[in-house]
Amino acid sequence: MTPHNKTLKTLKTVLLACALACGAVQAQTYPDKPITLVVPFAAGGPTDVVARMIAIPMGKSLGQTVLVENTVGAGGTIAASRVARSAPNGYTLFIHHMGMATAPALYKKLPFDPLKDFEYIGQVVDVPMTMLARKDFPANNFAELQSYIKANKDKVSLANAGLGAVSHLCGLLFMSALETDLTTVPYKGTGPAMNDLLGGQVDLLCDQTTQTVPLIKEARVKVYGVTTLKRLSALPNVPTLDEQGLKGFEVKVWHGMYAAKDTPAAIIDKINAALRVALQDPMVKQRLADLSSDVPPMDKVTPAGLRTHLEAEIKKWSPVIRKAGIYAD
Ligand code: ASP
Repeated sequence: MTPHNKTLKTLKTVLLACALACGAVQAQTYPDKPITLVVPFAAGGPTDVVARMIAIPMGKSLGQTVLVENTVGAGGTIAASRVARSAPNGYTLFIHHMGMATAPALYKKLPFDPLKDFEYIGQVVDVPMTMLARKDFPANNFAELQSYIKANKDKVSLANAGLGAVSHLCGLLFMSALETDLTTVPYKGTGPAMNDLLGGQVDLLCDQTTQTVPLIKEARVKVYGVTTLKRLSALPNVPTLDEQGLKGFEVKVWHGMYAAKDTPAAIIDKINAALRVALQDPMVKQRLADLSSDVPPMDKVTPAGLRTHLEAEIKKWSPVIRKAGIYAD
């Protein structure tokens, strides 16, 4: 080894030792200021609902406020890039759904790598979806919806929260099952999309039960079916799309929590512990149950549980998306 290489090696060892020691010191005092939880969609939508539900109990366990911040646009990828570039100190956290797994195939120039740029905290919740229409839409049930679409395809609009949002994926599956092609209208989240559905500006929307159950119960929207193979306890009278003829139509939206790559493991452990406490909080559990949403088994609410699931989901979705030929630049 040349003297130059030897110096470089020593320097690297010193830096590594320092990084470990500094991480340990940081972790001891963590958190000593408020934490930001980035939501990749607009306020009031389903992802935002989940984030705000867990932010309070997480903050209580961590002894600091967890502030929810909405960084919207491009199906959640703008927020993911922001978090990937944030300081790896545990003060910027990220909650995202399965869009994290579909983005690599959907976006040609993705400015982050879901498998390289993050630390994994754990899976969060699993949420079914519902197919809805504005209240005064002419079709009263799924059979009528199919006939209406056949006769009026060019007049029907379908809202979504941008390329890679689950409302987009559900809409694609729906159009492919019905062998139709509707006019799609992208929003910065299904919060604002729902406002337009309620206001009658857009016709159809597939969205998570974390936003839709109360609106369905209050009959403020029309519902054609749920996207699970079994009916939901929160909506026992709403048939599944599967039982109405769309065999195998199933979308259940999983969510995960992330931090920037190289956040010290001791800090990730503290955040994970707070997430686990929040998900077992009786009030959170009750609210989720009322929305027919499930807390995953606790072995999935772990860094390894999320990482393994994300890898499997990227493998599952990438060929499907490539085959469908849908891309963003
Ligand atoms: N439901 C949205 C989606 O389609 C996200 C949201 O607004 O929370 O991905």
